Amino acid sequence: MKYKSTRGQTEELSFMDAILTGQAPDGGLFLPTELPDFSDKLESWRGLSYTELAFEIMSVFANDIPENDLKEIIEKAYSSFRHEDIAPLAPVGKNLILELFHGPTLAFKDIALQFLGRVFDYILEKRDLNLNILAATSGDTGSAAIYGLKDSERVQVFVMHPHNRTSRIQALQMCTVNQNNIHNIAVEGSFDDCQAMMKDIFNQLDFKKQYDLGAVNSVNWGRLLAQTVYYFYAYFQATENNQETLSFSVPTGNFGDIFAGYLASKMGLPIKKLYLATNENDVLCRAFDTGLYKKGTVHHSVSPSMDIQLASNFERYLFYSCGQDSTKLRELMGEFKANGELHYDLSCELIEAKRCDTDMTLATIKKYSDDSNYVLDPHTATGVYVADLLAPEERIVCLATAHSGKFPESIKLACGEALGNHPILDALSEKDMKYQVADAHTETIKSIIVKTLEDA
Ligand SMILES: *Cc1c(COP(=O)(O)O)cnc(C)c1O
Repeated sequence: MKYKSTRGQTEELSFMDAILTGQAPDGGLFLPTELPDFSDKLESWRGLSYTELAFEIMSVFANDIPENDLKEIIEKAYSSFRHEDIAPLAPVGKNLILELFHGPTLAFKDIALQFLGRVFDYILEKRDLNLNILAATSGDTGSAAIYGLKDSERVQVFVMHPHNRTSRIQALQMCTVNQNNIHNIAVEGSFDDCQAMMKDIFNQLDFKKQYDLGAVNSVNWGRLLAQTVYYFYAYFQATENNQETLSFSVPTGNFGDIFAGYLASKMGLPIKKLYLATNENDVLCRAFDTGLYKKGTVHHSVSPSMDIQLASNFERYLFYSCGQDSTKLRELMGEFKANGELHYDLSCELIEAKRCDTDMTLATIKKYSDDSNYVLDPHTATGVYVADLLAPEERIVCLATAHSGKFPESIKLACGEALGNHPILDALSEKDMKYQVADAHTETIKSIIVKTLEDA
């Protein structure tokens, strides 16, 4: 399997090279040159365990890693999960909640980052290389990346988060990991500022090369690959046979999670609908409704990991929407860069987008707590709200992207009392936090990286 850039101006790379490179040098994102069709495999995959299924899917995409090594990588990655099914389905009300939060940081990003961490270790060891990860986080990517890489001997990790704009627990999770290879940078700005600086630095190819920079944001193909697995897994748990179709509801920020579902569908999984839920930051809803993709200002909501105005994986979707035409894509992205907006008809049968504001998010948490005795986290609640609104009679798989214990302030706001805590998180407040504050300028971040690596 080879990987090409959405913008069509880089050479094709192997899986391992695409993973190490992160963002493509032409500014685009990597995608497989061709997607496999798994329709004929579904029959034999029903009944596989999570890790067995992960191996079947991933081995097609990572065919430059010997099978036994890949098996070991997958086993190691998911051994850190606290539930033997990795991603269990819980029936709640009429829906099925796909619990993706049983990893070390209690958010779905662990599913991708525990895998990616072990893949990095494998490649770096094999090629005798070191890697310096630069990440931008609205909260959950940072801690998941830190927990995925804190024991990696060949990796230094730089994580930018918006200062005082993640939840308290998210900040604690990131900044209490006391390992010498972890460097937290609290940026005086928004998540979009952090992400823009990260992209800016990755686009400075000489700097990127000189300091061996790599990415763990969902621009990295390895994350999307790991996330396609749970769509297949949930399908086999929720259906009786492969003639059935199934719909998913996905709380969306950077468009990574839902894009993995879109890929699963393109690879032959019988998905009926993908409901895209946003909070007040509804750029994607408007884009799907009107064809106008336009950046606005960030609203701070009770679902901070979705407080995003620029969805980096949107480019991958756009690429498929315009028939994999890189020239057209470059034109659209150029338009976006110049004017802060682009026009394109994005409508598709599969994806339907809806916004869920803070008041509805809180009301949904309260309703499910009262009626079903199940505490939804605020991100998950947006997806559940949209599933109930758009498909009131249907059983929908709602992706639970975080454990409620990560957002105690919002749960209290919704339910009037502290519910849904988690002992792992409660223990964090005892620990010391370590981070440095920086202004939102690319040069500041670059100098922090240079200085830290010189001192290391
Ligand atoms: C990252 C995140 C999301 C958004 O996922 P995307 O892949 O960025 O669309 C939703 N919920 C939680 C809890 C997250 O951490």
